Amino acid sequence: MFKWGIHDRDPVPEWTRGRVTLLGDAAHPTMPTLAQGGNMAIEDGYVLARNLARHDDNVKAALGAYVAERQPRTRA
Ligand SMILES: Cc1cc2nc3c(=O)[nH]c(=O)nc-3n(C[C@H](O)[C@H](O)[C@H](O)COP(=O)(O)OP(=O)(O)OC[C@H]3O[C@@H](n4cnc5c(N)ncnc54)[C@H](O)[C@@H]3O)c2cc1C
Repeated sequence: MFKWGIHDRDPVPEWTRGRVTLLGDAAHPTMPTLAQGGNMAIEDGYVLARNLARHDDNVKAALGAYVAERQPRTRA
């Protein structure tokens, strides 16, 4: 019970389809040993909300800006 499978993989290229997008572990699962997944999910939520507010009713533009802002950081 103390053996864990910790695996790495390439980043998910597409987060958004239509008006639906991903955040948190669904978009960028983080190894538990990094202890960063929870705060990255909170950052995603903040950036997503900020972009939705900035782009008023243009959800497509808001989701595009959100992904453009978050992917470089979460890929690193
Ligand atoms: C052992 C371990 C240690 C960790 N330590 C840290 C740490 O020290 N610091 C840190 O920042 N992060 C840590 N993390 C990572 C952190 O827990 C996650 O990155 C974070 O919980 C991700 O949040 P999330 O909302 O994206 O996903 P989750 O917290 O997984 O939330 C997803 C939710 O969706 C629900 N769900 C799934 N399918 C459905 C469905 N079909 N319908 C409705 N609901 C559904 C699930 O029940 C769950 O409640 C650790 C993780 C692990 C496993």
